[in-house]
Amino acid sequence: MTPRIDETRCIGCGLCAQLCPDLFAIDPRQVAIVSGAADSSESIERLEAAIDYCPVQAIST
Ligand code: SF4
Repeated sequence: MTPRIDETRCIGCGLCAQLCPDLFAIDPRQVAIVSGAADSSESIERLEAAIDYCPVQAIST
């Protein structure tokens, strides 16, 4: 499962990269970028948490 970031919404808070360092990184523009795919049930659970906790609902799959 590969997440997507809506860069027009992302405020660069870093929460997704903290929860899922294998899936997200914060680029120099202070916007989250996708750096991997969730390929295990454990990483999918973390991705679902990031989707739930993103303060601006910028993450989708
Ligand atoms: S949690 Fe949401 S707002 Fe925060 S960096 Fe990730 S995508 Fe952007």
